[in-house]
Amino acid sequence: MPASAYDRSNIFARILRGELPCRKVYEDPFALAFHDIHPKAAVHVLVIPKGEYVSFVDFTADAPAEMQAGFWRAVAATARALGVEPGFRLAANTGAAGGQVVFHFHVHIVSGPRT
Ligand code: AMP
Repeated sequence: MPASAYDRSNIFARILRGELPCRKVYEDPFALAFHDIHPKAAVHVLVIPKGEYVSFVDFTADAPAEMQAGFWRAVAATARALGVEPGFRLAANTGAAGGQVVFHFHVHIVSGPRT
């Protein structure tokens, strides 16, 4: 999906602008991490970049290298903050056909028993 398809009214854009609340886990200049509102496991946190990227494909194609490195380091820092480093799953649903519902790139960190 091209960058031009980014919709600034998507839920995560509104969370980034502070228009909607979130249960924050971690934040730095590159990313914001917060608890998923419908957790599928004991730990289920979303990490989103602070930029207008629709999906994983869009982010990896268009984000500057500094942003890409900063984002993935923020994912690791979030896992550390959650204490899940011994074992967790990373998922990035990509495109409607890949199960993506919110079209602001995000990574799911999932750990522990399914709820
Ligand atoms: P997906 O786009 O399929 O990767 O998943 C989007 C995820 O966002 C789902 O797991 C939702 O439960 C979650 N979600 C939707 N709205 C919110 C919200 N306001 N705060 C936190 N998580 C949300």
